[in-house]
Amino acid sequence: MTEKVIKSLKVCKDTKIIYGVDEIAEIFRRFSIQRPTPKSDLNYTNVFTLLVAVVLSAQTTDASVNKVTKKLFCLADRPEKMIILGKEGIAHHIRAIGLWRAKAHNVYALCCRLIDQYGGQVPDSREELMTLPGVGRKTANVILNIAFGQPTMAVDTHIFRLGNRLGFASGKTPGEVEEKLVKIIPDCYLQYAHHWLILHGRYICKARKVECVQCIIADLCKATIKTNAVPAPLVEVKGNGAPVFF
Ligand code: SF4
Repeated sequence: MTEKVIKSLKVCKDTKIIYGVDEIAEIFRRFSIQRPTPKSDLNYTNVFTLLVAVVLSAQTTDASVNKVTKKLFCLADRPEKMIILGKEGIAHHIRAIGLWRAKAHNVYALCCRLIDQYGGQVPDSREELMTLPGVGRKTANVILNIAFGQPTMAVDTHIFRLGNRLGFASGKTPGEVEEKLVKIIPDCYLQYAHHWLILHGRYICKARKVECVQCIIADLCKATIKTNAVPAPLVEVKGNGAPVFF
């Protein structure tokens, strides 16, 4: 047994999860085969527009954000240009999404801070990102993961539900779930793990209805809600769409 595996086994024991290290590794191996290179559903052209898109996506679907950012990013793909648009101009373009007033305020304020404190560049540390208006830990983790290639775990509603439902990262807060997931997921899978879990939660292990017949980890899953124990075929799914086997 390698030193790395022994360390992982200890982590599983410490975190009191009901899965063995080999089972966790197998779950993420299958996700990696199903979607080798998952991508964000948000449209963006650079790190700055990714940051703005993620800030705008709070409590709103990615598709709605993409609709409003299409024109906005043509006009303003840098903080300096966004400031020229002004708070009212930003608000005008994002009126179709929820919380648009507060989001317009935050986008304007974060542009001011980027220029004042960071030379117009998006910083690459969690601490600095979280000083920006409208940027919490989850948003910072998304930026670090997608833009800077850091193996962070941005816990959204799907990941929070899966961590608790499947029992491999139960916690009362997103922070607790994040901490456990980062500990138990093998390093080689961490980069894409949050995408895989979000997509699995969106299409298969949904909040109200679980699609266990379509689930590639049905044999490994230990959720009490599970309705089937035969795994769906492990084949690659193109893009971020739903896998449908039966
Ligand atoms: S088997 Fe069912 S409950 Fe378990 S992960 Fe798959 S969809 Fe969710």
